[in-house]
Amino acid sequence: MALTFRGGVHPDDMKRATSAKALEPMNAPETVVLPVSMHIGAPCEPLVSVGDAVFLGQKVADSSAAVSSPVHSPVSGTVTAIEPRLHPNGNLVQSIIIENDFFDTPAPDIEPRGTLESLSGERIIEIIREAGIVGLGGAGFPTHVKIRSGIGKVDTLIINCAECEPYITSGYRGMIEHTSEIIGGIRLVMKALGLTGAVIAVEANKPDAVEKLTQAAGDGIRVCVLRTKYPQGGEKQLIQAVTGRQVPPGGLPADVGCAVFNPETCAAVWRAVTTGLPLVTCNVTVAGSAVANPKNLICRIGTPVESLFAAAGGFSVEPQKLINGGPMMGVALYSMQTPVVKTTNALLAFTKKEVERFKPQQCIHCGRCVSACPMDLVPLYINMYYSKGMIRELEGLNVTDCIECGSCAYICPARLPLTQVCRTGKTLLGELKKKENAAK
Ligand code: SF4
Ligand code: SF4
Repeated sequence: MALTFRGGVHPDDMKRATSAKALEPMNAPETVVLPVSMHIGAPCEPLVSVGDAVFLGQKVADSSAAVSSPVHSPVSGTVTAIEPRLHPNGNLVQSIIIENDFFDTPAPDIEPRGTLESLSGERIIEIIREAGIVGLGGAGFPTHVKIRSGIGKVDTLIINCAECEPYITSGYRGMIEHTSEIIGGIRLVMKALGLTGAVIAVEANKPDAVEKLTQAAGDGIRVCVLRTKYPQGGEKQLIQAVTGRQVPPGGLPADVGCAVFNPETCAAVWRAVTTGLPLVTCNVTVAGSAVANPKNLICRIGTPVESLFAAAGGFSVEPQKLINGGPMMGVALYSMQTPVVKTTNALLAFTKKEVERFKPQQCIHCGRCVSACPMDLVPLYINMYYSKGMIRELEGLNVTDCIECGSCAYICPARLPLTQVCRTGKTLLGELKKKENAAK
């Protein structure tokens, strides 16, 4: 029987429009916008100035902080500005703007770094850091930090091939099109972590990915099939399904001996080691009811989202809502000039008719949000206290354990924006606690 976790929901996966569409490389744009922060941790400082010529793959921003990740140019060209620009997270973030010369002249230091056999674990970690690789399935935690902090603590490496968010198939296409790179990257990560095995966890709705990964896996790597259920790809839910271990509230996967990696992150590790090319592209599903010709695209990081929607045939109907990410966990986009960042895996556009179906009503106390929550929270009470401005009380309801999976909002018949409430509630509670501590 396929493995799973408690709670969760079964939304229509809406993947039909793009699951059979191969990843298509996009033309590079005229200008790229590179925020100096596309990861969790300290933002980088620019290493270039306005007017500088840059190469493809050249490091253009870095930080000396332990938790950070450098930024590289995805084109060759000239730096035309360094200024705040809109980031997909909705904030203005210092960004390096580069005009493309369309020569793709590579940086002189781009060359193969070695092989699995020739490199030490420490050297693999250094290469990963220098290549600017971050977790491509979620918030962008720097991969070198995750590996370094897991050495000696982690006994189980899990490759998260669930891709449970509706509409998104860019990861699935990577699993069947970049299978050998993924397996090669898993072996490099295993070596860096000092492990001899790994588990690839795939949802049952991707049988061809299961088959391809199983055929390519080889010694020490096994493929396990998970039940198709949302949020099967949540780190804590995945760990529970695969190992039976429960990450404690406020804890991390390493606390229960696990490290979870996205398959495309592993493929990026493989490319960085075998070609020397840092992380300069990402795979993005462009879909939703307003998109004329939904697609899976490989684009340069820093490309404006407008170019991706244009590459997917533009809009068949005027979109009412644009989302960076999936419909459950994604965030609204407010400008077509917002750039694609390292962690972008989907861009969705929805029609007015579809958006109107989600207008909130009054809570009817049905309790469905409670049954759906994989973290055993009580979203209806979180919503009630939040709407009354009782932010302190949210701590007792463990709002900080919310993984923002969106299951409660999806299942709620009153269409209440429960995920948004939890997200803002966590931020407000954090600010309140900071103020209280400062006043002590
Ligand atoms: S409360 Fe948080 S963790 Fe629970 S279902 Fe809602 S979004 Fe997911
Ligand atoms: S699912 Fe929605 S309507 Fe039902 S109890 Fe939860 S918040 Fe209220």
